[in-house]
Amino acid sequence: MRRKLIVQKYGGSSVANPERIQRVAQRVVDTRRAGADVVVVVSALGDTTDELLHLASQITQAPPERELDMLMATGEQVSVALLAMAIHELGEDAVSFTGAQVGILTDGTHTKARIVDINAQRLVGELAKGRIVIVAGFQGVNLRQDITTLGRGGSDLTAVALAKVLRATVCEIFTDVEGVYTADPRIVPQARKLSTISYDEMLEMASLGAQVMQARSIFVAKRFGIPIHVRSSFSLREGTMIQRSVKAMEDIVVSGVTLQRDEAKVTIRDVPDRPGMAAEIFRELAAKGINVDMIVQNVSREGSTDLSFTVIKSDLPSTLRLSRSVSHRIGAGEVTTDEGVVKLSIVGIGMRSHSGIAAKMFEAMARERINIEMISTSEIKISCVIRKAHAERAMRAVHRAFGLNRAPTSGR
Ligand code: ADP
Ligand code: ASP
Ligand code: MG
Repeated sequence: MRRKLIVQKYGGSSVANPERIQRVAQRVVDTRRAGADVVVVVSALGDTTDELLHLASQITQAPPERELDMLMATGEQVSVALLAMAIHELGEDAVSFTGAQVGILTDGTHTKARIVDINAQRLVGELAKGRIVIVAGFQGVNLRQDITTLGRGGSDLTAVALAKVLRATVCEIFTDVEGVYTADPRIVPQARKLSTISYDEMLEMASLGAQVMQARSIFVAKRFGIPIHVRSSFSLREGTMIQRSVKAMEDIVVSGVTLQRDEAKVTIRDVPDRPGMAAEIFRELAAKGINVDMIVQNVSREGSTDLSFTVIKSDLPSTLRLSRSVSHRIGAGEVTTDEGVVKLSIVGIGMRSHSGIAAKMFEAMARERINIEMISTSEIKISCVIRKAHAERAMRAVHRAFGLNRAPTSGR
């Protein structure tokens, strides 16, 4: 019979200092001694990746992306080596690898590369020698042998992809909270830990701002049916299982509330009200790889209309440049930007079969006298753009309105 194989991923806060690295080492060793083969993926220590980006920003505002990847990938190389040393101290055999060394082949898109293939041979060989294998998260190598990174939070993706190619029993994601909650527990102290959540809901929550898992990693996990256990590296308690949709015992409509802080609103004034104008604007943005999220077109007056949409803040400078040039060409007016907004969303598979959910969300905000600037809905989510200053109050109000608070106020 095949031995049990577990992939464990430890995030930055779990390995923020030497003492924490030693605790992680102990946990890895305990798992190994309980009889499983273990592959460990680690993130860079604490806030290393942010610090490296800050360093680069002091040199240039437009760093070449290849060099950014070269820089960011150093963070994870430090943590794998230190963890391997800590495991040796505990008397087990461990070996650390960069992404390139274990054949994590990606496409060429620097800073958000996609994994194309993983050559598991080296990993399997090391495991067969009885070693604990430690792999640097977040990084790979492209066909030209250049180092690439997998987008922020990309160590989650490394872990899920390794779990897939190694056919692991489970992929454990160790972090600084005890699992996936109904809302970020740092913003909503009454948030409840979910014992299970479906891939679809987790994917939606991650895409809408719940930082606890990288969205792309959930996409891959869903595709290949990899069970994920999100849990705390500071306790032994069970966390949250992310898996195919589970038959709910109760009729749960909304599973979680999320906040996205990195979008900005762009408005083009006086867009001529005739066919083809929206196509003209959004074609140009799409051609430059800019993802437009929410779009609102106001009521036309005197042959023209204001058009607003949101984009990720990092795309704002290029969006502004392009929008101004299109606006000029089509005879529209001024282009303005607004970075004082956030996107608040509710997510839940149960919404498919329930009505009145949107009304309940809007009422919760109305009671708090919070104005909604934009709305978008899909089968399993509703999002509202509101002022940044109201973000956390709105989140708590909506969380409460859907009965998501922990007992004694729980309605579920
Ligand atoms: P790591 O360094 O372990 O990858 P992250 O900072 O990426 O950790 O993710 C964990 C953080 O995600 C938590 O500290 C928490 O504040 C935040 N978070 C946001 N939404 C949620 C949620 N719904 N459930 C749990 N944590 C969440
Ligand atoms: N260190 C990388 C980041 O901060 C990858 C990760 O932590 O998952 O985004
Ligand atoms: Mg993370």
